[in-house]
Amino acid sequence: MIEHVRSIKDFDVRYKVVLVRVDFNLPMVGGKVTDTSRLVRVIPTLKYLIANNAKIILLSHYGNPKGKFILGMSLSPVVDELSKALGGKDIKFAVDILESSTKDKIDKLLPGEIMLVENIRFHAGEEENDIEFAKKIARLGDIYVNESFSCSHRNHASIVSLPKLLPSAKGLLLAEELENLNKHLQNPVKKVMAITGGAKVSSKIALLKALIEKADHLVIGGAMANTFLKAKGYKVGRSLYEEDYTQTALTILKESEQKQCKIILPSDVITAKTLENDASYEVKSSSQVSDDDMILDVGPRFLADIIYGLDEVKTVIWNGPLGAFELKPFDIGTITISRAIAESTLSGKLTSIAGGGDVVSAINSSGLSHNFTYISTGGGAFLKWLEGKTLPGIQALMDSARTCPVT
Ligand code: ADP
Ligand code: MG
Repeated sequence: MIEHVRSIKDFDVRYKVVLVRVDFNLPMVGGKVTDTSRLVRVIPTLKYLIANNAKIILLSHYGNPKGKFILGMSLSPVVDELSKALGGKDIKFAVDILESSTKDKIDKLLPGEIMLVENIRFHAGEEENDIEFAKKIARLGDIYVNESFSCSHRNHASIVSLPKLLPSAKGLLLAEELENLNKHLQNPVKKVMAITGGAKVSSKIALLKALIEKADHLVIGGAMANTFLKAKGYKVGRSLYEEDYTQTALTILKESEQKQCKIILPSDVITAKTLENDASYEVKSSSQVSDDDMILDVGPRFLADIIYGLDEVKTVIWNGPLGAFELKPFDIGTITISRAIAESTLSGKLTSIAGGGDVVSAINSSGLSHNFTYISTGGGAFLKWLEGKTLPGIQALMDSARTCPVT
């Protein structure tokens, strides 16, 4: 798949206006960016374009403004962070991609200069994938670069239509992402342990079905496990679970047997009566949860089993936190597994790939991300990729390679 996608290095970008679709949908609180990990990862591409005298226009969305200008969803707080990450470089900002003043600003850009454009989802044409909207943007640039793997599962104008209209390439981070996913997960070294968690079975059915094909062991934690436990006849009290998906859970359990994939559910759990920081908690066997309990994390016996199981596998694929990790101490399961995977990877025994918005933020906050073999920048895109789907944004780059010549 990657062979047919061109890289920015295949283009002569000198003095060209390069439209780079990035993912600056960064966590922000009160107009301040709280985590720049996503931004930092596109810096190599920006430095490459600066060094090669391109005129750089950055396009991104933030949140879900649904085609309207919403002040609290402005990308302007990103300007300072981007400037800092580039050693104090001046970053220009355009308030509206379609305004004629933006075109004037682009005409005045010098080689190596960068302009960030305001939240592209302030225009309904972005999410509607309106080709006329895309054409107006395409007129502003010479080359399109997709540097947002994490948005490549979206059929949006800046992801799938711009590559139809301009010579297009993958950025360095998108290239790295595809290389790693292909190398480690296309035909993963056996045995494979997949670890899934998070809130809902309903959002991950296709993922679970794909994982039982690929993995020898499928560990299920998080609130997702509650639906499985309930389906198997356990009491889950007031825990988050999905009644409507207990049948799906049973089907997945049955299919896993046919595929010779062993599903591992929590044998013990951490329960509390309230969902809050520092709530008093108990460790219980999964069969002893009472009516007023909430299962908020996996238990120590289960964790020990998983850590022991890591010794038997060569590849770990992880998506979804094992507990309500935003609240302490219900992050312990996720952090303990994160540490064990990091250690095995460091000692060369394991290839470890993790992806997904929440699990990646949990791994990042524990400071262990650099010890994993690869941390995907994708949430939904990582899931779609694991499900075996070709992402529309990547497909668009492949199509562009056939139809739009290199400039
Ligand atoms: P990811 O973004 O990694 O794919 P999800 O979005 O599917 O993960 O799920 C993450 C959410 O699941 C987190 O907000 C976390 O608090 C929640 N969660 C996990 N386990 C539990 C649990 N036992 N009870 C309630 N919420 C849980
Ligand atoms: Mg999530």
